[in-house]
Amino acid sequence: MRVADLHLHSHFSDGTYSPEELAAQARRCGLAAIALTDHDSVEGCPGTAVACAAAGIEFIPGTELTAEQDGNELHLLGYFIDTQNPSLLVQLARFQAVRQNRIREMVARLNRLRVPLAAEAVFALAKCRAPGRPHVARALVQAGLCANLDEAFERFLKKNRPAWVPKFKMSAGEAIELIHLAEGVAVLAHPGLNRTDQLIPGMVKAGLDGIECFHTKHSTTTSKRYLELADRFHLLVTGGSDCHGLNKGKPLIGTVKVPYLHVETLKARAVEIKAAAILRPAP
Ligand code: AMP
Ligand code: FE
Ligand code: FE
Ligand code: ZN
Repeated sequence: MRVADLHLHSHFSDGTYSPEELAAQARRCGLAAIALTDHDSVEGCPGTAVACAAAGIEFIPGTELTAEQDGNELHLLGYFIDTQNPSLLVQLARFQAVRQNRIREMVARLNRLRVPLAAEAVFALAKCRAPGRPHVARALVQAGLCANLDEAFERFLKKNRPAWVPKFKMSAGEAIELIHLAEGVAVLAHPGLNRTDQLIPGMVKAGLDGIECFHTKHSTTTSKRYLELADRFHLLVTGGSDCHGLNKGKPLIGTVKVPYLHVETLKARAVEIKAAAILRPAP
């Protein structure tokens, strides 16, 4: 059976794999298709498309947008997006700037705690436009200031820990709108992690297309609950490993995979969205 992993990160956000490594790993796992879904970034998509084409793997350009609704953080995946769309690139640049400023603020807090980390060390390690807390954690370990990533999160970076800084986020509706504007399919990521079930009907009204039922951190019961919700709200079903490369121990790529049928339904929706975009008057 042909299968796909539709949730992967690269070193263009907080994963460790390069586009070439992702394609090689996908091949090793026997995946027919993969989607790259870096946080607030599409920078890795062109390179991964080339690497996948060379490896005989179908590539789906994507992103994972961070949003907030009623005080809850949630993540929205955009699939088959036009990674050159000017409005998308302007908005991503805005959220990337928010991320970079937040790194400086987190480092300033660490310095006030007499932890001598330099923001430049984090940026040098991250080498991407969408740096996040995992890069600060890795820089802390690299500088010998924390023993491991878990310690960095537990002592400093977890929500409400002393170096944690909240991040300005778009609303769920804005994220869905931005994905559609870039001619992509909008899917709620790992709902089992965010406790945002009560927000799903509102997101469906805002145009949500699908729901990530299968995810590394979803139990069988959780997946079943979201399959039922997908059925009730006529949402597409997706799934993926949320692999961050070697950041978190063993690489997860290929450990959560969905039948290729789900790629076909995603693709059919993308065609509809692109057709609607052609009919839309220019802004
Ligand atoms: P940020 O977008 O900068 O807030 O960072 C969020 C990312 O940090 C998530 O996507 C995870 O990859 C990672 N993360 C969050 N909490 C932890 C944790 N306790 N331990 C390790 N990684 C974490
Ligand atoms: Fe991440
Ligand atoms: Fe996520
Ligand atoms: Zn993710």
